[in-house]
Amino acid sequence: MAAGATLGEAREIAEAALRHMAVLEIPPTPANFAVWFAYASGTDPHLCRTIDVLMDSGQPFDTLRSAEIHDRFILPTYRSSAVDTLADDLHQVAGNLTTTVGDVREGARRYRDALAGATEMLERGEAGPTRELVDGLVHETRIMEARNARLRERLERSSGEIARLRESLEETRREASTDGLTAIANRARFERELRLAAARASEAGGTLCLLMADIDRFKTFNDKHGHPVGDQVLRLVGRVLTDAIRPADLAARYGGEEFAVILPDCSLEEAVVIAERIRERIGQRHVVRRSNGEDLGAVTLSIGATAYRPGEAVSDAVERADAGLYLAKQSGRNRVAVVPPPSSPPLPPASEPL
Ligand code: GH3
Ligand code: MG
Ligand code: MG
Repeated sequence: MAAGATLGEAREIAEAALRHMAVLEIPPTPANFAVWFAYASGTDPHLCRTIDVLMDSGQPFDTLRSAEIHDRFILPTYRSSAVDTLADDLHQVAGNLTTTVGDVREGARRYRDALAGATEMLERGEAGPTRELVDGLVHETRIMEARNARLRERLERSSGEIARLRESLEETRREASTDGLTAIANRARFERELRLAAARASEAGGTLCLLMADIDRFKTFNDKHGHPVGDQVLRLVGRVLTDAIRPADLAARYGGEEFAVILPDCSLEEAVVIAERIRERIGQRHVVRRSNGEDLGAVTLSIGATAYRPGEAVSDAVERADAGLYLAKQSGRNRVAVVPPPSSPPLPPASEPL
């Protein structure tokens, strides 16, 4: 939402969103409205570009498409507000603990003063009957004990709160970096991990490779077999990618039907071997319609591969992997194409489909 928009501006944006939805015959559900409000406000250039590209391509912009965009662009903003709520809760617990620590100090000070007072009286020989003195100290000790019991209870409550918050934070963090459909890493996590891997490779002079993969003719597959089966295929690709890589690698859903793989400590030749393994395994897995067991055949993947050149911007490596993917599509799909970094040895030949 356009933060800081006045009532009038917000109303204009809302009306523009409703006009877009009316033209495209999209029902004004809360999720759809959130997408089109964001589009009309123009605050998220990625969302606007995605919608513009989809509309320019003349593809039907239906509720399903709107839901995809919602999951990709709007949901993560809810998640960050979930993080904000957690942060508020943590702030509250921290505030309670500070008060508790203050109370402990105050209690200890009072007790120390009482003891010091009694010592002084004894030294000056001013203490009255010993019984009175002892009674006074016993009284202060009881107060101290009661206070300590309350403090212990409060600390126990706070530590329970902290454990619960830590769990929620962990879950929110997991959700915020996981793709909801395939359960592999999402694009945000991919970008984070790629930056880290690139920094490591640059500092230690290590190797790092990157694959970009895209399902071939997936629109046709979806049109023919339906979106739910398409989703099943996306999950299958997520599983095959995860199974084909090493534990230190990372497979992510980059967006729609595009996937990305980060391969640290891996030469470009090894990356091509892994890419081929992925491509072959996908091509071998038949998709079965769950409702009736019908064999729908296999889908294929086109893959672009590149190596990261230490020191370069990670976006340069992503662009090269993308260029490789484009090459693989251009040269017939279901293949791996390599675009090495500028100073590397010449390009190995693109593989042929099985
Ligand atoms: P190409 O071989 O050139 O990649 O052709 P394509 O049909 O795969 O590419 P295009 O970009 O025309 O279509 C992408 C398709 O991916 C269209 C869209 O419906 C589908 N898609 C994207 N995200 C999802 C999703 O979350 N679920 C399902 N079922 N389909 C999706
Ligand atoms: Mg595709
Ligand atoms: Mg695509």
